[in-house]
Amino acid sequence: MNIGDPDKVIRSIHGTVYRLADSLLMVGEHDIQELERLNAMVLGLNEEMAELHRNLVRGNNELKRNEARIRELMLTDPLTGLANRRRLNESMEQGIGRSHRHGRPLSVMMADIDHFKRVNDTYGHDVGDEVIRMMANCLREGIRTNDLAARFGGEEFIVLLEECSLDDAFQLADRIRKSLSEHVLPSMQQSITASFGVAELGPEETAASLLKRVDQALYLSKAHGRNCVSRIDPCGIA
Ligand code: GH3
Ligand code: MG
Ligand code: MG
Repeated sequence: MNIGDPDKVIRSIHGTVYRLADSLLMVGEHDIQELERLNAMVLGLNEEMAELHRNLVRGNNELKRNEARIRELMLTDPLTGLANRRRLNESMEQGIGRSHRHGRPLSVMMADIDHFKRVNDTYGHDVGDEVIRMMANCLREGIRTNDLAARFGGEEFIVLLEECSLDDAFQLADRIRKSLSEHVLPSMQQSITASFGVAELGPEETAASLLKRVDQALYLSKAHGRNCVSRIDPCGIA
């Protein structure tokens, strides 16, 4: 027999009805087996739900990890592992904002491998790629942890130097220039050189203007015979 309560809980009672003269006697007991079966079912469903929840959390974590990895790939140059132009643009905007807000110096360094076309023509594209990676390593090893080195184009690189004056940027570039010229690639058996430009952010200057000026500084180094560093002061005078 199923007994429904006003609160809609239905319990089943299981028993025997006796006839006693003109009345009926019912002797019954709660259906323990049924209750146990229901309890077991509820427990099973709870466990299933907990497992589903665990899977959901695992899935979410994996999704977050994949998203972070995709974002990392989107911002990284595949040949060198340095930042790509997209990350550089993001970091420059942020760094320039900070520099203007706090009145702190910010400089950029631009580097371009000298006569790189000759390397490709003489030793092949793969050796050319090795040279680009070697240049990237020299930059990575030469800069501070807070600096951001990026591959700007084929054999052109930019380093964003926060909290760095023009003088310090110049010295840093010259150290990297020397270290590059001292490395010899086994597959080339000769060293390579690069030309550098440095510029410091001027008051209210934008990223586009700063990049234009550091490019001019680099052009000066090429014009002066390469394998050297040139600087352009914040007013734009060489
Ligand atoms: P300069 O000293 O004036 O900079 O001369 P350069 O020969 O280095 O400059 P140029 O701009 O004439 O040549 C750059 C070459 O870089 C041309 C292009 O084929 C090569 N290059 C661009 N990207 C890559 C790359 O990812 N791998 C290789 N191996 N070569 C590349
Ligand atoms: Mg070049
Ligand atoms: Mg170039």
